[in-house]
Amino acid sequence: MEHILISSCLLGLKTRYDGKDAFDSRVRKIEKGYILIPVCPELLGGLPIPREPLTIKRKDGYGFWEENIPVVLKTGKNMSHNFKEGALRTVDFAKILNIRRILLKDGSPSCGVFMTNSSFKKRRGIGVTAYLLSKNGFIIDTIESFLESLKSLH
Ligand code: SF4
Repeated sequence: MEHILISSCLLGLKTRYDGKDAFDSRVRKIEKGYILIPVCPELLGGLPIPREPLTIKRKDGYGFWEENIPVVLKTGKNMSHNFKEGALRTVDFAKILNIRRILLKDGSPSCGVFMTNSSFKKRRGIGVTAYLLSKNGFIIDTIESFLESLKSLH
């Protein structure tokens, strides 16, 4: 069976900034055909649970990597180092496991695929880790886009 990395909060692990999960029951369908391996880029970057909310200061993950836009706390404190480390470690983890596809939690400043968190608002754009994974050739999806792509195969 193919191995897929997945945002840990989607699997029900309480790794979100507020100490909660973002369990999506549709993972039950996916785990019948794939081995799902949880990963949380923010924890890999050394951040604790719970943690203060973080956002990409304007723009998105593209801006973070290509234009030096920081990730900040509400106080304005720059936390980019943790996000950079977490994204790099997630890419390494995926490479070590020979993973091809990663399912990510949309709307997160790290994991967002179509929507991210920019200036503390949900906005169209990609997260910091999602951008780096995509740049390294991994296929990134939300649960929804993954299930849609499976439909088109049948
Ligand atoms: S960084 Fe990603 S995996 Fe971790 S809690 Fe946030 S959305 Fe979930």
